[in-house]
Amino acid sequence: MRLEKAFAALLPITDAGVDSAGLSESSSENTTMTPLRLFMEAVDQSPVAISITDQRANIVYVNQAFTRITGYMPEEALGRNESMLSDKITPQRVYEDLWNTLARKQVWQGVLINRHKAKGKYLADLTIAPMLDEHGEATHYIGIHRDVTEFYGLEQRVKNQKKLIETVVDSIPVATVLLDGEDKVVLDNQVYKGLTSELGVAEPIQIFLGLLREEMGEYWAAVKRKGKSFRNHEVRVDLGGRRAPRWFSCAGTWFAESDIGVETYFQQRQQTYLLLTLTDITQQKRQQEEIRITALKAIMADEERIQSLRETLSGVIHQVQAPVNMLSAAVSTLERRGGEGNGNAALLGLLKQALDSGRDTVATLQNCMPEQDSAKVAPVNLNQVLHEVLILLTPRLLAGGIVVDWQPTPVLPTVMAMENRLRAMFKQLLENAIDAMRHNGSKPRELRLATHPEADLIHVVIEDSGPGIPPELRTKVFEPFFSTKGGAGRQAGMGLAMVQDVVNSHAGMIMIDPEYSNGCRIRLQFDTHQSAGN
Ligand code: FAD
Repeated sequence: MRLEKAFAALLPITDAGVDSAGLSESSSENTTMTPLRLFMEAVDQSPVAISITDQRANIVYVNQAFTRITGYMPEEALGRNESMLSDKITPQRVYEDLWNTLARKQVWQGVLINRHKAKGKYLADLTIAPMLDEHGEATHYIGIHRDVTEFYGLEQRVKNQKKLIETVVDSIPVATVLLDGEDKVVLDNQVYKGLTSELGVAEPIQIFLGLLREEMGEYWAAVKRKGKSFRNHEVRVDLGGRRAPRWFSCAGTWFAESDIGVETYFQQRQQTYLLLTLTDITQQKRQQEEIRITALKAIMADEERIQSLRETLSGVIHQVQAPVNMLSAAVSTLERRGGEGNGNAALLGLLKQALDSGRDTVATLQNCMPEQDSAKVAPVNLNQVLHEVLILLTPRLLAGGIVVDWQPTPVLPTVMAMENRLRAMFKQLLENAIDAMRHNGSKPRELRLATHPEADLIHVVIEDSGPGIPPELRTKVFEPFFSTKGGAGRQAGMGLAMVQDVVNSHAGMIMIDPEYSNGCRIRLQFDTHQSAGN
């Protein structure tokens, strides 16, 4: 029996020992197997190819799986060198490593290209272990190998497919990114990688996800839950500083795939992925923005003309109202003192006539007051409004040598507001700042604008390096007809009153920061859950 012979050759067992170990013909016929016999049967019937060699790799034992995997019958293999299995393609360095490892009496593990007796090449995943005698010397080697050709083929196919997908994704001319369920980037392309440096952020996808969630609201969660797609969702990325905003049209598809974690072997689990494409539409948007700014200039000029007329008339009414009030007081006084009975009839009549005429004048002036356009309430992005105001005021900012530090928070919730009124308000505040810095002397002229959300609020900060507003005037400046410019100027004293009015109609808040001493810092606050009223 070949197994017994092999083990007899391997083990320093005497004939008696062999008998006692159950290796003799007679004991093999016993129905109850001894542990050694059991062990030998287990090795012989093992599903992996097992061979035992002497120190020179000459085969002394092969099991049944060896024959199945290599095609060699035991009688063809025994006594021959393991090199008979070599296809001679495996690089020499691999064998050198194999033998160097065995020389150190260590276990070698690796992959060799073998040749089946009849069927040609196959990949052998081989482990060789030295068998040591009582002096610690290697007397034999045991080799265990599996045919991993199919597994390797599958592995290569997966790698090839991955490479193919990466090449295809890389050749897509728009930024493309695949995210796992934790929003981590699994795959991206060159255009997306380019965004990292263009936008100056380490992981641009976090900005895009924030903007999309903001833009899509409930729809984002609904589409995700149903594993559906969305497309043509435009987002605006505000970069701040001197960089113009960028626009992207986003499309996304959610899909689920079986998770490959070990713990999912018996219990399947789905992993959700999102494939996002971000098409840069900044060019088109800039063209649209130019057209919009031109239209805005015309609208704002018209609004300013009406506003100016309203302010002039308000000023006149204010002026006329004072003597009318005095006349009214005089008439009341005379009437209290007995009126016509005291011989003041003529005077009283004259005063009443003058009072009526004054009241008529005030009423006529009030009737002449042009109506303000009724403004529509809609979701407004304050970053966009502020950016437009900056564009509108660019000529003045450049002429004034003013350095603008624009620091918008990229993901800003919208507010329900009257966009035109807010734009007029911010324009007024920025014009005030520009005017204030005109008299700066050699002091740097710096205008800082910043937005940031906090819970349900959006904060806007407008900071200039002008002379600032003295503490005692910080409330007064918001009163109508109050001006620090000594009454000069057509609209003197109504600018900040208009600002206060717009803030009030948006249930917002405005204050001059008392902590700031390098100029004037105006803080505004708007509630994202409040809607503007007229
Ligand atoms: P070889 O002439 O055998 O030698 C190649 C290099 O190995 C030379 O540099 C030589 O110096 C060194 N070398 C060879 N024999 C020894 C040694 N006894 N001691 C130290 N260095 C030595 N090879 C396979 O291709 N497929 C197998 O499935 C396989 N299974 C093996 C199982 C066992 C248990 C052992 C011990 C070896 C096995 N080998 C196997 C290795 C095999 O014996 C050959 O070394 C190898 O096939 C290279 O054969 P070769 O004729 O090209 O070169």
